[in-house]
Amino acid sequence: MQTDLYKHKGMRRALVSQLRQKGIKDERVLAAIEAVPRHFFFDKAFLEQAYQDKAFPIGEGQTISQPYTVAFQSELLQLKPTDKVLEIGTGSGYQCCVLLQITPHVYTIEYKKALYEKAVKFFKTYGLHPHTFHGDGSEGLPRHAPYDKIIVTAGAPGVPKSLVKQLTLGGILVIPVGGEKSQKMLRITRKGENEFTKEEFSNFKFVPLLGKSGWDAETM
Ligand code: SAH
Repeated sequence: MQTDLYKHKGMRRALVSQLRQKGIKDERVLAAIEAVPRHFFFDKAFLEQAYQDKAFPIGEGQTISQPYTVAFQSELLQLKPTDKVLEIGTGSGYQCCVLLQITPHVYTIEYKKALYEKAVKFFKTYGLHPHTFHGDGSEGLPRHAPYDKIIVTAGAPGVPKSLVKQLTLGGILVIPVGGEKSQKMLRITRKGENEFTKEEFSNFKFVPLLGKSGWDAETM
């Protein structure tokens, strides 16, 4: 268990002001990033890196997303305190902690066993209670659907049909879609039973979404 000191809070305030300068406006999201000690996800030797606006390796070939990316995706979700949210790609658990600052109803699924176990341990250590799942989330988590919001934190080759079907009416899916090198951020909103709108935003670089509706069927 690590401690959150005054100096860390100062580093987070500086990070939040950078995110504001980069265009993030949602006050709930900014407050959440200011509240979550990102250095808890890092080895003590990497304190400086924890509060830089950069992605960082977390093992198993995966990364903790860049704070700007976490903020951007979270803002697109238009999160409310009553939302039931599904996150695909728990990874380090950082994005999940940001979501938990805004709503207690968070479901998160991770494909890689080692990362899943590490994240579960982390949540337990810090007394956090997302609903955690191990498995292929590329087709969502149908048994707990529908969700008001779905966030995919790995790059997908396309928008899986099964995912949009797990949205409530008015629900929002935020998913990076594209090739291996770069993905366009998409926001899909469910307007009716079979009616969806699609908005496109800027390009990002995510690790690939694995599994059935992802890039391959790598072993867990
Ligand atoms: N949200 C994470 C980002 C981690 S990177 C964070 O804040 O740290 C993306 C994660 O998606 C990786 O951990 C990867 O293992 C996971 N992933 C990839 N394909 C997946 C799938 N089909 N189902 C669930 N998780 C997946």
